[in-house]
Amino acid sequence: MVGSSFQLDGKVALVTGASRGLGQGMAIGLAEAGADVIGAGISDMSATREQIEALGRKFYQIKADLSQPEAAKQLVLDAVRETGKIDILVNNAGIIRRAEAEVFTDEDWTAVIDVNLNSVFQLCREVGNHMIENGSGRIINIASMLSFQGGLRVPAYTASKHAVAGLTKSLANEWASKGINVNAIAPGYMETDNTEALRANEERNAYITSRIPKGEWGKPEDLKGPVVFLASEASSYVNGHVLCVDGGWMSS
Ligand code: NAD
Repeated sequence: MVGSSFQLDGKVALVTGASRGLGQGMAIGLAEAGADVIGAGISDMSATREQIEALGRKFYQIKADLSQPEAAKQLVLDAVRETGKIDILVNNAGIIRRAEAEVFTDEDWTAVIDVNLNSVFQLCREVGNHMIENGSGRIINIASMLSFQGGLRVPAYTASKHAVAGLTKSLANEWASKGINVNAIAPGYMETDNTEALRANEERNAYITSRIPKGEWGKPEDLKGPVVFLASEASSYVNGHVLCVDGGWMSS
């Protein structure tokens, strides 16, 4: 029955940046579908742990600063030591720096590319090797509307998210035949810390809201269904897709 193909019982999901925002929402969604969750990142994850354990699922927290070059390799070693396997990888951790392109610093550029792109590739590679050995796996990268559009005052973020979409397709081509589905979710404008500055700017906020056909910003819970779909058997013939979850933004 199709309902059971969405179940994730017995699966282990590694979610980066699961302390708050979209990562927290997706981690809880995966646990609601039956998965145990490894949360990886730099911030306190006790709020996520509390909600996942209340569902009767296991939660493991592993400290990993994904701005550091060796962090991905160490994280995967630690995660496999802790749980024995990784069935699902959600590359969610990400940062944004805002400034006009003509004064955008090398430091900001490198910081964004390191977390949003370099660590995503390194985690895909390290977890991909583990999944190839197991003959199956699901990788879900978190892209953005700025995987398709230019945005304003966020050149490094836009470059990193365009690259995440391309990387997703490239890895999907290589690994689909090895039982690994690589896809991405491109969230629209969502209410999280990442968009606090944007929402605080009345004029930009009003403009953005007016352009969303659904008429409102998204919430972390809105990613639960999409991430469970892409993590489960229900999406077994979906490869290299970038799924917009955007209240219609890309169609408007
Ligand atoms: P957020 O700022 O609320 O959360 C980001 C998470 O990443 C936090 O848990 C943070 O601790 C973690 N993180 C940051 N730097 C890290 C590092 N060096 N090492 C490990 N973890 C680190 O942001 P969010 O809005 O929940 O965004 C999550 C993802 O979704 C990001 O990739 C973001 O680009 C993407 N996204 C967000 C929106 C939106 O509207 N909020 C839209 C499109 C895409």
